[in-house]
Amino acid sequence: MAITDDQAARTAAPETFDSVSPATGAVVGSFPVDGLEEVAAAVARARPAAIWWAELGFDGRRKRLLAFKRELARRCDELCELVHRENGKPTDDAFIEVLLATEHLDWAARRAERVLRPRRVAPSLLTRNLRAWVEYQPFGVLGVIGPWNYPVFTPLGSIGYGLAAGNAVVFKPSEHTPAVAAWLRDRFAEVVPEQPAFQVVTGFGATGEALCRSGVDKLVFTGSAATGRKVLHACADSLTPVLLELGGKDAMVVDDDADLDAAASAAVWGAIANAGQTCIAIERVYAVAPVYDRFVDKVVERARDLRSGPGKDADIGPITMPGQLEVIRRHLDDALARGARALVGGAGSVHPPFAEPVVLVDVPEDALIMREETFGPVLPIVRVRDAEEAVARANASRYGLGSAVFGRRRADALARALRAGMASVNSVQAFAGVPALPFGGVGDSGFGRIHGDQGLRELSTVKSVVRQRFALPLEVTSFQRPARTMPLLGKLVRLRHGRS
Ligand code: NDP
Repeated sequence: MAITDDQAARTAAPETFDSVSPATGAVVGSFPVDGLEEVAAAVARARPAAIWWAELGFDGRRKRLLAFKRELARRCDELCELVHRENGKPTDDAFIEVLLATEHLDWAARRAERVLRPRRVAPSLLTRNLRAWVEYQPFGVLGVIGPWNYPVFTPLGSIGYGLAAGNAVVFKPSEHTPAVAAWLRDRFAEVVPEQPAFQVVTGFGATGEALCRSGVDKLVFTGSAATGRKVLHACADSLTPVLLELGGKDAMVVDDDADLDAAASAAVWGAIANAGQTCIAIERVYAVAPVYDRFVDKVVERARDLRSGPGKDADIGPITMPGQLEVIRRHLDDALARGARALVGGAGSVHPPFAEPVVLVDVPEDALIMREETFGPVLPIVRVRDAEEAVARANASRYGLGSAVFGRRRADALARALRAGMASVNSVQAFAGVPALPFGGVGDSGFGRIHGDQGLRELSTVKSVVRQRFALPLEVTSFQRPARTMPLLGKLVRLRHGRS
């Protein structure tokens, strides 16, 4: 069959997709749908880049990463404007992301050498003849898959730390935020023009899967638990190690000695900022009976005038992913049908592409909104007898990402008792702003940590090395050892470990 000119043109031209503003539908940019071949080619280009980047050493990488950070800071207005157009969030929210990202980049770039340089360790009594040390070496090429909700801060938490640890990175952003990813890559390429140490591949889920199967040396995934499972499956065939940063259902506990004004402000911000599209959003509040009514009043006072909108200075922007609107609506309808009461907003609060803030009370614990990630500007508040009941209910979740406690006497103990990777006492989400703190969760919120010393080490391989300084008089690991060696060793073991 003859191929028409049109068919030939379509075969030759790479398939593309448009990234659009969730608020207006305006096209922000057009990007290739990278398939197996393109992803494999990016990883192949990353191989020599990884060797070059690793050989720069800590000093060379630090200088380049700090230059990258300076570009982000100098051009932050342009970046915030792009985040607003592509993700929909107000520019102030975008600015908070960029601020956090630059702080983390700065810390990772400066900290990497101290954490990852070779470290001497003490040998044991019987291995005194050895010098022993641990070396942290780059994996080589990291695959990073990221979400759309914090398109600057979240991926840079993996990319920045991965680069600081000496790896090259191939990044697959969400299909909803490829323009932000390309902007970050371009700024990096301006300050590191020699080799493609940081590349971007774009497309849909299949592109992400291709990256999982591409032979990268470690895959760092941030996204939903459902996709996290697929990533783990895809990486299993090649035994590619995986770090999973997944969703959450973060709880806040308000104890009877809490500063209720501070707690109410934090609950409203924690639940509603970024239109609730935050992995560490406060998705449930458990307030103890003696302060419950006053706390609820203060929350309502602060939440009732907040509005969504398409503008740069709205309180909250649109829901970025159209499909999420249906999830928010379903969770609201289910809660209201089970007897919940809406004190702010209600059943009609979802009007695509926006969702208005909703505050719910009397929500039964088996409602969807108490169990599954809602990812919308919705705050259910539950009255509990005491802090112990609050902790028990908070912990009865598959998720365990962040958490918050407001209180005085018992606050630290409550934070310790919450089943979560992170906790903020008398603040919300504050742990994300401390670069030295590892970030990650337990249960369905994933495993492994980004940020902090642990984040740098997770993106490195560990090599244990020993060097013999002198031969032992009692040589054990030799076929030529004298007959008396083993009886002597037997005595030694009983002497050292057999006595009470
Ligand atoms: P998704 O899980 O839908 O997608 C995450 C990324 O995975 C996207 O780039 C997506 O591409 C890609 N992807 C989709 N299918 C596959 C596949 N089969 N194999 C490999 N990659 C694939 O999450 P969202 O983008 O909707 O992000 C929101 C989620 O992320 C929430 O659950 C949130 O809690 C979580 N999150 C967790 C954080 C943490 O640090 N723990 C931080 C921020 C968000 P595409 O978009 O093109 O489909």
